Amino acid sequence: MSAGGLFSDVAVIWISHLDVVNTTLGLGLPEPSVLQPVWDYLLQYHQAELRSPLFPVVISVSTYLLLVTLYTLLDVLAPSWPTLNRYKLHPDRPVTWDNIWTTLGLTVYNHLVYVFPATVGQWLWRPPIPLPRKAPTLTSFLLGILGCTVVFDFQYYLWHLLHHRVPWLYRTFHAMHHQYLQPFSLVTQYLSAWELISVGFWTTVDPLLLQCHCLTTWGFMMFTICVSTEDHCGYDFPWSLHRLVPFGLWGGPPKHDAHHQMPGTNFAPFFSHWDWLGGTNMVPTIPSRDTSVTKGLQGRKDKGTV
Ligand SMILES: [Zn+2]
Ligand SMILES: [Zn+2]
Repeated sequence: MSAGGLFSDVAVIWISHLDVVNTTLGLGLPEPSVLQPVWDYLLQYHQAELRSPLFPVVISVSTYLLLVTLYTLLDVLAPSWPTLNRYKLHPDRPVTWDNIWTTLGLTVYNHLVYVFPATVGQWLWRPPIPLPRKAPTLTSFLLGILGCTVVFDFQYYLWHLLHHRVPWLYRTFHAMHHQYLQPFSLVTQYLSAWELISVGFWTTVDPLLLQCHCLTTWGFMMFTICVSTEDHCGYDFPWSLHRLVPFGLWGGPPKHDAHHQMPGTNFAPFFSHWDWLGGTNMVPTIPSRDTSVTKGLQGRKDKGTV
């Protein structure tokens, strides 16, 4: 099959309702959905929960809290566990309890003041979500998540670039996130309300734009939380996504860590292509062994880890 044929099939899948297209790429054969038994089970036993407007918020918040709990546990253990500490991007700079309480404090504040009222509002005014009988095919599920991630990556790249280039926007909305030179998982949502709302808005709207199945939408929401938290986790594990995706196309923790230290680089949250095109791509050289970057920033006021 030619590359052109492949792309036109992909376009058909994205354009004509990701949830109802049921053909395998290029072959035109029906693709039995491996997700159908799972979807049938969910519809039979958890339909009320799934239809609730609260459900997307509950899975997003739970995923985030689970991940930051796991990473924070690693942060607490790392100083006395050399095998783990060697995977840290800055093994000589442990995360302190002060770092944890400060970032956790803002996380709780943002959830109480913004996320919780928005959730109650959704619960009061949004009708229950209609659920289709058919599950998405595995192809449309994965392509839907990929498509939403590509769109989100572009939106956040522009938002991020603008908020670094316009001093007032940086000072007012984005500087808060840059108070930490060496990110750790809880810095992921150490955000101003405006940034939190922007990110939440795109995460909600992008699956609607691409007409995704609700299962794909929830998969995308959980995926973005996983990769955003991984970006900030401060570890370069062998199984990190940037080590699995070829050609340096996925930024991952080392490149986002470099953005926190050199804020004129690596604006895209996930992929590298916009930074390649914009000339802002910066690949750090094994940050854990290269102290030149932090040495160059010693005079800067920050809330970096010790
Ligand atoms: Zn960040
Ligand atoms: Zn930034």
